Amino acid sequence: MAEDAVERFQDTGSAVRSLTVTAKSKICFKNEPICNPEHCEYARDHYTKVHAEGLLEKLSKKKKLSAKQFRKLGEEFEVCPFELQLDAARDADVVICDYNYVFAPHSAFGRLASTTIGQEGKPNLVIDEAHNLPSRAMDYYSPSLSSYSLEFMRKRLEDIPSRFRQEASLLIDDCIQTIIECRPENLDPKGSVIDPPSHPFMDQEEKLRGFLSRYLESDVEGVLEHLRERSMPTMMFAVQGGVFSEGVDYPGEMIIGAFVVGPPLPSFDLERERMRRYYEEHYKAGFDYAYAFPAMAKAVQAAGRVIRSETDRGIIVLLDGRFIQSSYSKSMPADWFERAPTELVSRGICLLYTSDAADE
Ligand code: SF4
Repeated sequence: MAEDAVERFQDTGSAVRSLTVTAKSKICFKNEPICNPEHCEYARDHYTKVHAEGLLEKLSKKKKLSAKQFRKLGEEFEVCPFELQLDAARDADVVICDYNYVFAPHSAFGRLASTTIGQEGKPNLVIDEAHNLPSRAMDYYSPSLSSYSLEFMRKRLEDIPSRFRQEASLLIDDCIQTIIECRPENLDPKGSVIDPPSHPFMDQEEKLRGFLSRYLESDVEGVLEHLRERSMPTMMFAVQGGVFSEGVDYPGEMIIGAFVVGPPLPSFDLERERMRRYYEEHYKAGFDYAYAFPAMAKAVQAAGRVIRSETDRGIIVLLDGRFIQSSYSKSMPADWFERAPTELVSRGICLLYTSDAADE
């Protein structure tokens, strides 16, 4: 229906450019969308090929884009049709897609929703079947666990180093068993309330966390060796508070910059909230002590990886407006700014704000 409506505009001579987004599972060339360059030749150097072949310019000349064109270009230039359509959406006037692409947290279109669709970056959303939106939104924020998704994970174990596979497989077995044990023996076909005890899940969570941290930190030396060799430009993604952003030194040019993405606030839970209340009662600074200070300790640690000696040089980028709020900026090292944290805001961003203000 949405496509028909746009087509009618186009038939009357309107220059509106439209794009219909097709789900990854439907447009993918592989049997299973495992978007890893080692498994999928279309993921390999996707952006380099798209750029070198000028594919986005080619697509921007078309009035109506759908799966057929993306698959055709994907086959011809060995690029991923799903990613291509997301990139091409930036140049479209009308994008027709499922709610997921706009509203789901970590949606593929999060990057689009905040970018260039007309109206100075603010897209108009026409939401069809809007009565479905509240329940879909609740689903996005409701965790779910099923034996099906765990079985799916088992198939992916071949992607991890062999020394971890057996342990990971046993953990999946344990998780499935925990779910099965929650089922009452006689399930009422009309519906049963299942009220599982929480401790088996908490035990599993603890085991999984232990496994994950060992897995993620298993190759610290390999990563460092790679950075020491500096045989190719490398971007490393690390968790704030984890071993790569706190426990490891990177002298000289092993790393030349750090992007600190947001203050890593601690989780909101009972213990943290009690802490907040205590500091609020005693010092009138509950949020600062319970959330902002611990977050800034990690953020400053991560930034501090860049400069490890008086001869080190590098760039630290703090990515988040909260860094200039006083709750956060008062934990910054004294030499980061002279009078106000706004000195840290890059001139480019200041110019953008001043020109916006001048336009208003
Ligand atoms: S990169 Fe694209 S083609 Fe490759 S598996 Fe993922 S969705 Fe499929």
